[in-house]
Amino acid sequence: MATLEIRDLHVTVEADNATKEILKGVDLTVKQGETHAIMGPNGSGKSTLAYALAGHPKYTVSGGTVTLDGEDVLEMSVDERARAGLFLAMQYPVEVPGVSVSNFLRTSATAVRGEAPKLRTWVKEVKEAMERLNMDPAFAERNVNEGFSGGEKKRHEILQLELLKPKVAILDETDSGLDVDALRIVSEGVNRVREPGEVGTLLITHYTRILRYIKPDHVHVFAGGRIVESGGAELADKLENEGYEAYVKGGASE
Ligand code: ADP
Ligand code: MG
Ligand code: MG
Repeated sequence: MATLEIRDLHVTVEADNATKEILKGVDLTVKQGETHAIMGPNGSGKSTLAYALAGHPKYTVSGGTVTLDGEDVLEMSVDERARAGLFLAMQYPVEVPGVSVSNFLRTSATAVRGEAPKLRTWVKEVKEAMERLNMDPAFAERNVNEGFSGGEKKRHEILQLELLKPKVAILDETDSGLDVDALRIVSEGVNRVREPGEVGTLLITHYTRILRYIKPDHVHVFAGGRIVESGGAELADKLENEGYEAYVKGGASE
């Protein structure tokens, strides 16, 4: 059973010639089949957690451990993390000029599966996944994230998620910038991937609205670079009613 274990994770960034600690001891265990929502005010370090797990070079792990099935994730390159079964959808995905969605997906699938998918079944797989996400087939020939609208970026991420079938999926603000229809389609995609109970999901969000479509097993409040409260789905309802004010001291958040 796949388990992502984050223990006392500390992460720093270099800003204005100074080292700033952003994550101040994050503890979290995500098991296969579980959905965890991380919710918190802007600037609390949610994306920093996602970047650190992704192995982004700007984010330095200054303490703590991250393991996937006991394997040290922090020792792995970005590619090795993907191959080990980690999937990360970023809040601000980058453009990949000159690389089509279709080539990008096939290259990613080859990296993750360890062999190139058979062309005929692959084409069918991609076509069907795109249909489920209401995506125009022409989208496959566009360059990755180049001129994509917010909704197209998110659909593209969920398309990757469906095709790559990771052990643990980390989705940072997948709901941001989506209208209600796109939110429903994207949420249905996430639910299709997680429903067989084979993937662990870490859903990072500022707003409770996506949790109407994707029901979390656990909700964690993130503030000041750490988890300050954990509970069940009812904690999201409390946040919906009361906001984050109670968790933010000294107006550190926007
Ligand atoms: P959230 O996703 O919860 O809104 P972030 O992780 O984006 O929070 O940011 C947390 C804090 O870390 C903010 O104060 C932000 O300015 C700072 N920060 C994040 N990334 C960087 C970076 N690359 N360089 C400098 N500061 C950063
Ligand atoms: Mg933010
Ligand atoms: Mg963020």
